[in-house]
Amino acid sequence: MNNSLDVIRNNSYKVLITEPVSLTLTETLEKAGFKVICLKEDMCNQANDLVEDVHALIVRSKTRVDKNLLKKAKKLRIIARAGVGLDNIDVSEALSRGIKVINAPEAPISSVVELTFCLMVMALRKVLHSSLEVKNGLWTKPMGSELNGKTLGIVGFGRVGRRVATVSKAFGMNVVAYDVRDIKREGKILGVKVVKTLPELLKSSDVISLHVPLNSETYHLIGENEISLMKDGAIIVNTSRGAVLDTRALLKALENGKISAAALDVLENEPPKETWEFKLIKLSNVIVTPHIGSQTKEAQERIARIIARKLIRYFNSEV
Ligand code: NAD
Repeated sequence: MNNSLDVIRNNSYKVLITEPVSLTLTETLEKAGFKVICLKEDMCNQANDLVEDVHALIVRSKTRVDKNLLKKAKKLRIIARAGVGLDNIDVSEALSRGIKVINAPEAPISSVVELTFCLMVMALRKVLHSSLEVKNGLWTKPMGSELNGKTLGIVGFGRVGRRVATVSKAFGMNVVAYDVRDIKREGKILGVKVVKTLPELLKSSDVISLHVPLNSETYHLIGENEISLMKDGAIIVNTSRGAVLDTRALLKALENGKISAAALDVLENEPPKETWEFKLIKLSNVIVTPHIGSQTKEAQERIARIIARKLIRYFNSEV
């Protein structure tokens, strides 16, 4: 990023970055001529006080870009989500105010996919439990299961879902996919069985992996009713968004053995705050990580480069 196209023609633009991002992003924007203001970690709630004077806002998943914030953002022209999900941004309100919204959905795919398989194997082989036992001086060997030969149900056959399907083949898994879009062609290319309904997928899968965006249609997409359709002892992996899964229903199903294990990178409240959430994450058959799907150096670098390039182009075309 060091040719003349990487410099903005009008250097009076201010960018507010509300959450930790790769240094590459701040440096590239500064070199391009932006005035960059970065909030300290966990201070994203200060965004409301600072947004009035900025032309671009860069957020990750914690900053709530709601009507209140947007009302104050008098000069704001563009919001960049340094990542994928736009569920923390009131996109329709932003668009109605003429504010463009961009993200970098292609950047973290491999990181999310690798974490998905890490969680899957950890759940099937009881890795966390075994490791804690050894650290506590024990040497017991819990019986696990292989991915090989199991049926993986992929809910949401988008960028991440499709890559999960590709990798699962190397593990010898059979793959079933469901999406609201017509994915027959994509399924054929990847050698995946496409099912027409979610219940069909739930009934036939040993492991169910969620890869849909969070919106009003997918809120609690997997609830008590859907869990009741799953095979006894099924395993659920969620690296999408916490509220796609009704976690209270999941807790019940883990307690009564209907679901044998769950591996979650995302929760309904991040960090967890409800009593039932603490109960859930403490279960020995639950693996939980603090929303680290995109948290790799490589993904963050890709995000930085994509967002910087998009912002520079946008402001140059606006002049
Ligand atoms: P994508 O938009 O490429 O794919 C999502 C797919 O879900 C699409 O094919 C869409 O048609 C499908 N879909 C939407 N509603 C559906 C429904 N009701 N039932 C079935 N399918 C439905 O998104 P992606 O880039 O593959 O990301 C998938 C998820 O992963 C998103 O929730 C994203 O926010 C999340 N994500 C999480 C992390 C993390 O840090 N854990 C990182 C990146 C992405």
